[in-house]
Amino acid sequence: MQPYRGIDLLNIEAQLTDEERQARDAVRAFVEAEALPAVIPCFREGTFPAALIPRMGELGIFGAHLEGYGCAGVGPVAYGLIMQELERADSGFRSFASVQSSLAMTAIHSFGTEEQRERYLPDMAAGRLLGAFGLTEADHGSDAGAMETRARTSSGGYVLDGGKMWITNAGVAGVIVVWAKLDGAVRGFLVDASLPGVRTEDIRNKLSMRMSVTSALFLDGVEVGGDALLPGTRGLGSALECLNAARYSIAWGVCGAAGDCLHTAIEYTKEREQFGRPLASFQLVQQKLADMATALSKAQLLALQLGRLKAAGALHWSHVSMAKQGNTRAALEIARTSRDLLGAAGITDDLPPMRHAMNLETVHTYEGTEHMHQLILGRHLTGLNAIS
Ligand SMILES: Cc1cc2nc3c(=O)[nH]c(=O)nc-3n(C[C@H](O)[C@H](O)[C@H](O)COP(=O)(O)OP(=O)(O)OC[C@H]3O[C@@H](n4cnc5c(N)ncnc54)[C@H](O)[C@@H]3O)c2cc1C
Repeated sequence: MQPYRGIDLLNIEAQLTDEERQARDAVRAFVEAEALPAVIPCFREGTFPAALIPRMGELGIFGAHLEGYGCAGVGPVAYGLIMQELERADSGFRSFASVQSSLAMTAIHSFGTEEQRERYLPDMAAGRLLGAFGLTEADHGSDAGAMETRARTSSGGYVLDGGKMWITNAGVAGVIVVWAKLDGAVRGFLVDASLPGVRTEDIRNKLSMRMSVTSALFLDGVEVGGDALLPGTRGLGSALECLNAARYSIAWGVCGAAGDCLHTAIEYTKEREQFGRPLASFQLVQQKLADMATALSKAQLLALQLGRLKAAGALHWSHVSMAKQGNTRAALEIARTSRDLLGAAGITDDLPPMRHAMNLETVHTYEGTEHMHQLILGRHLTGLNAIS
């Protein structure tokens, strides 16, 4: 097979700045040389390659979109391109970086005090400290505002009780941003994972996102200091602000997974012969390849436009909902179609499309399901709320 050099049929490359190209190329080289070799063993084992975390820190991947505190401070398009490269290897890499950066670090950067930012962000940027973001509960997923986790004030600060479910990196994190109701309002708390009363249990039987650690989190009378509250958090909207940053990274990331699937399908069908001809020479196969290429190119343009809007300070949550659900659906269809074109060879993990498709099932569900984003967009278009 020809080596992967990215798929860019609409010459998006020409619109990138030098900074954006450099950021992408540095991460592409890391993916090629270091991330990809780790994917299959880790996916099979259900672990994240911890040895690569300091390298990701050195490359400036964590909190790359943030200014100061040891973060790279790159623009939104460069950040998106980094996510695209990571997810080309495996959605678990993008998820790891995105939870650390767009969720945990963004929460601290946006809603923390100067002292909290200085205490946590430099170590998180370097990958010395891992973060997680605990919003979802076992009984409250899409309707996160109905959460039951509670915080109450105490003489020393706050006491937290409750539980979170499906929390990426919670099992490996040093600090967890826990969303809990304090006097009826949703607030964010920085919870040290080693505190008494904090317990995690990894979910080991996932068929999707196997390279990413996902855990249940239990909080049983956890005493935190007064400085654990992120004072800028004001209701569920603060959590959703972080989620929007993460959804932005998904809009780009899934293009990486889809690009890898399309590349694999093209290369495989050019080599594989049936009925005395390469599969790629059949019209039905070419139709599928053409549809995949068109869908991927549209998704890439949508992600790029989101990046430009974000840089101009004009990004609206409806744009993010459109791209999160639209690009994920496109990527999932590309991965499934690509798997189909590989025949039986597409069933194992020797080739990536089925692994990407399995991962993308999680991406379809987390950070707001496809339905939720359609309903958010529907509400924006009609002014009528069909969510609740
Ligand atoms: C691998 C993985 C990692 C995750 N990481 C994190 C994390 O780090 N932090 C975190 O907080 N959460 C995380 N999540 C949780 C994720 O965000 C939730 O799974 C998601 O929000 C959906 O919630 P749910 O699973 O409870 O589904 P539900 O809300 O129960 O939804 C089930 C189905 O019902 C549909 N539905 C729900 N409400 C409506 C409605 N009003 N109208 C129409 N359809 C509706 C949904 O679209 C979906 O199809 C993760 C999940 C996974 C799988």
